[in-house]
Amino acid sequence: MNAQPKASHYINGRFVEDEGGQPMEVIYPATGEVIARIHAATPNIVELAVEAARAAQGAWARLKPVERGRILRRASDLLRERNAELARLETLDTGKAIQETLVADPASAADALEFFGGAVASVTGDYVDLGGPFAYTRREALGVCIGIGAWNYPIQGAAWKSAPALAMGNAMVFKPSENTPLSALALAEIYTEAGLPDGLFNVVQGFGEVGAALASHPIVAKVSLTGSVPTGRKVLALAGSHMKQATMELGGKSPLIIFDDADIENAVGGALLANFYSTGQVCSNGTRVFVQDGIRECFLDRLVTRAKAIRIGDPLDPDTQMGPLINAQQHEKVMGYIEIGKAEGATLACGGGVPRLQGLEGGFFVEPTIFTDVVDDMRIAREEIFGPVMSVLAFSTEEEAIERANDTEFGLSAGIFTRDLPRAHRVIAELQAGTCWINHYNLSPAEIPFGGVKQSGIGRENSLAALHHYSQLKTVYVETGNVDSPY
Ligand code: NAD
Repeated sequence: MNAQPKASHYINGRFVEDEGGQPMEVIYPATGEVIARIHAATPNIVELAVEAARAAQGAWARLKPVERGRILRRASDLLRERNAELARLETLDTGKAIQETLVADPASAADALEFFGGAVASVTGDYVDLGGPFAYTRREALGVCIGIGAWNYPIQGAAWKSAPALAMGNAMVFKPSENTPLSALALAEIYTEAGLPDGLFNVVQGFGEVGAALASHPIVAKVSLTGSVPTGRKVLALAGSHMKQATMELGGKSPLIIFDDADIENAVGGALLANFYSTGQVCSNGTRVFVQDGIRECFLDRLVTRAKAIRIGDPLDPDTQMGPLINAQQHEKVMGYIEIGKAEGATLACGGGVPRLQGLEGGFFVEPTIFTDVVDDMRIAREEIFGPVMSVLAFSTEEEAIERANDTEFGLSAGIFTRDLPRAHRVIAELQAGTCWINHYNLSPAEIPFGGVKQSGIGRENSLAALHHYSQLKTVYVETGNVDSPY
């Protein structure tokens, strides 16, 4: 298996190598084999990328928004045309099942480019009547923005950050996760092919220190990070100390509340989606599944039956529903939490082991795992595991469910299943979360804002909100009479 890119970085419209950088191996998580070798960025590469972005940004910002949008929409079409090959690359990079990457990764990147490419032309300022004099506001680009990605949705992350940034007239330097460096390079090539001027979207590789160098660079105006809460604290502190704007898309331990009157099959489907998609490596996953007493037995019965039927195996096989975790370290972490769950006294209702898969012995697989009889203070109910491990907790009243759902430092997402319409909206209004679902889970189309509250983040991706987060307001006062000066 070979997925070697032409070079490690993409700067000013072309591939660039600097072999002086720390070597990085790209591993196919299903087998553990090395599929590409690249280098982390040296300080020289960081400098080249930021400078290319700075040099290109001014002319780009002066184009008509509709002209910038046209290029994004052309890139969106190219992403869709190449969906199959990009999905395969994403599967090699992440280990996620091809049946997922074919519908959820390049496709979601294309959606973002299409949405922002169209929406940007309707971003307007305000007019304020001051009784003769007047004022207006302009939404202007910030300048050079940094995107730092996580490893669960690499091309989607690169697109969700770059599309609104570019649409608003900014330039971007994007650093993918060190675990999944490949698909952002493919996106960069597509942008160039679609006509994006050189220097506007640059990709540099590396570990956290490269991200920190970018986030603290004096030329940079904004940093947008997707990552864990501890990384978010560090990057936000860096941005703050240099007075840069920041968007933080961080982790979660989100609640999913199933009321007695829910449609059972829909609720079970929602809970499975909320825990096992992308092998459980989704920031917004509803990993605390609160189930009301009256529906509990029936819900658990169907939940376990359907979870046991999940097909785990070769991610490139179109019939496979669940691939491996990203790497050995994450595998060890998730298996560690399964042991913690057992030791804490939770009941292992399903999974918990490492499946034996012929030919994939070197892969980082874990069975879809469900713990029942989980109580609120267990570590498996409080800490983000980022793997296919669901905790089921029992509850009796609506008030109790709300209070316990909110009893967490995180606030990324929440979901509820009920057929009681007033209750659905009443409960959602009380939940401390940035993104909520009623009678579904984890759908995040480009048209709607996505992001967290509390420790889960600051700012929003997608929707018109993202265009605001990648721009700044200029106020212009206009006098129409004489200057009344006392001097
Ligand atoms: P991570 O925090 O380890 O790394 C995220 C990125 O930050 C990587 O590119 C990494 O190299 C970089 N980084 C690390 N230290 C840095 C530093 N000091 N300065 C600058 N950059 C630094 O996260 P991960 O393990 O790649 O991803 C999993 C986490 O991301 C989970 O917590 C998950 O919930 C979260 N996540 C959040 C969202 C969201 O939109 N809210 C989406 C996906 C993942």
